[in-house]
Formats: sequence, structure tokens, C-alpha cells
Amino acid sequence: MQKHNFSAGPCILPQSVFRKAADALIDYNGIGLSIIEISHRSKEFVEVMERARSLAISHLGLEGKGYKALFLQGGASMQFLMVAYNLLQDKAGYLNTGTWSTKAIKEAKLFGDLVEVASSKDQNFNYIPKGYEIPSGLDYLHLTSNNTIFGTQIKDLPQTDASLVCDMSSDIFSREMDFSKFDLIYAGAQKNMGPAGTTLVVVKEDILGKVSRTIPSMLDYQVHLGKDSMFNTPAVFAVYTSMLTLEWLEQQGGVSAVEKINNDKAALLYGEIDRNPLFKGFVADAADRSTMNATFTINDDAQADRFNALWQEAGINGLNGHRSVGGYRASMYNALPLSSVQVLVDVMQEFERTA
Ligand SMILES: *Cc1c(COP(=O)(O)O)cnc(C)c1O
Repeated sequence: MQKHNFSAGPCILPQSVFRKAADALIDYNGIGLSIIEISHRSKEFVEVMERARSLAISHLGLEGKGYKALFLQGGASMQFLMVAYNLLQDKAGYLNTGTWSTKAIKEAKLFGDLVEVASSKDQNFNYIPKGYEIPSGLDYLHLTSNNTIFGTQIKDLPQTDASLVCDMSSDIFSREMDFSKFDLIYAGAQKNMGPAGTTLVVVKEDILGKVSRTIPSMLDYQVHLGKDSMFNTPAVFAVYTSMLTLEWLEQQGGVSAVEKINNDKAALLYGEIDRNPLFKGFVADAADRSTMNATFTINDDAQADRFNALWQEAGINGLNGHRSVGGYRASMYNALPLSSVQVLVDVMQEFERTA
């Protein structure tokens, strides 16, 4: 039986993408060769890379605005240091909204001065700080748009003249926004785009080349751009599968269409969390709740075994919360259908009825 997969990452992708990727592993488009046994310089793969890059830019509405997309390796974690290596000259600002922001801060500190403009650490990151001062003269301000572990999401961008850099690993392509407000966006593929192994970087070209340090080739965005994201062998299968997901997204009607469904899914689940007296949402202010990762706890821990048995029997996978929050986390990425959220809500109601 196919599971209802609420896993936080790696996570659900569209079934049609799994099938096409599986076919391509055996025989890519009928050429008698697997996608993973042909040269990355072949006409076939160069087309895949170019299509993935251009779909990423068009889904973000950034065509003709000076942006380029790269598919790099090393995960979003590598971007924590690459961003600073390439952009941090004197001082950068970081908004600390969780584990991933904290890790980004740790790496960037190796390269220059950092200002933590605000932090929600005092409340175990269960809210998004607001109304904080942003100093002028920053090389950039780094944000984490969606905090995968804690279930918070930035809804309104801070007002600043600093260049914005954003880790969008867990909500890229899930909602519309004016993405031209950002100079650099990065996202590990494995949350909403593809298998683990590649990281999308979308960068405005004219912000590069301004730091005085020497950057090793593999960590230099300009080197990767100069080689059309083929400076070294890319993660061919991960890029191909990401391209399939971006094509699927186009067939769904693009980001605006999936955003509506994502909002419906989130409304359904948060509605039940708020209504059901046996559960409590983790995020303090409803306005900060993530549409991608809903975190909640059960009020009576002694009932946890009974709830766990119910959702497992219903074919639900991946509902356990991250160890730093506990409780439960339902990740509702683009490929998760509304019907799977309904199954979870039904289980929560049955749990209440049989209490
Ligand atoms: C998962 C995640 C990361 C880490 O990604 P890796 O590809 O494992 O390095 C970073 N930031 C956010 C917001 C994430 O959700």
C-alpha cells in the first residue's frame, strides 16, 4: 500500500516523477542508455541541465532580471559557507530563526563580522522575530524563509536596503513572492524539488566579484556560472529528477496553483490542531505558522502510544517531530495531496472520539 508520506526531507515527490525517473535509469528517452551512464557533456544531459536551470528561473518569475541558476553539490550546508566566501567583505546580518540559521551563522563567522539582527532562540524558535533594527552598511542580510524543524515561516520580508540572501530549502516553489527582492536564493533539492544530492542556487550575477579574497574554484559562484553549472560533473540523476519535478510543477499550473493547494492543506490541518482539545500547536503566533511543516504536540503524553498506533495503521509515514521540538511534524510539501492531509485529520478526530 502506498503511504501518506509526511516526511520532512528527503520527502515525497510526485508519483509521476518517480516513474519517469525510474524509466530513465534503465533507458533514457529510448536511446538505449541510462541517464546515469551517459556523459554529462552529452547533448542529452546538457539539455536536461539547461531545462532545469531555465525552469527554476521561470517558476520564480526571474526571467530577464539578471539572475542565473546553478545546480551545485554539498547540500544547503555548503551554501552556508559559500555565501559568506563570495559575498562577505566586512559585515553581514543574520536573522536567527532556528537550527539551520544557527548553522549558517557559525560558518559565516569564519569569513567576517556578523550581526545577529534578531533571534527567536529565547522561545525555542517558536516564532519569527519582528520589528527589529537592521544596521545599515551590511554586505547582505541572510534569512531562512521556512524553518523546517520548528515549523515557522517568514510571511513578510524585513524592510532593508541590504542585499537579501535566503535559505529557501524547505519552501522553494511553494508560494508566490516577489523573488527579485532577493539577490541570492539557495535550496537543497530534497525538500520540495528532487532527491538529495544537488542544491539549487539562484543568484543575481552583478552582486558577484566584489570581495577581495581569493576563492577556491569549487566554491566560487562565478566559476560555476562561467561553466554553465558544469565546472565539474554535476549530480546528474538528482538534476534530472529535479527537472522532472519542475516540469510537473508547470503542468500543475505553476507556483500560484500549488500555493492555493498548499494553503488549503495547511488550513485543514491547523484547523484541526486548533479545534481538537487533545492537541496543541507548537508555533506561538498563527501568522508565523509554516504552510510546509506543521508542528504540534499531544497534550497528554500518556496517550502518545495510542495516537502513534492510529496514524501508523492509517498508512501515515514520517510524522515524528524533530528531537529538538518533540511531538509531531506534518510536512506538506507540494507533492503531498490534500487527501493525505484529510487522512491525518480523520485519524486525529478518531483519536479524540475514542479517548
Ligand atoms: C534541510 C535543510 C538544510 C540542510 O540541507 P542539506 O542539504 O542537508 O545541507 C538547510 N536549511 C534548511 C532550511 C533545511 O530545511
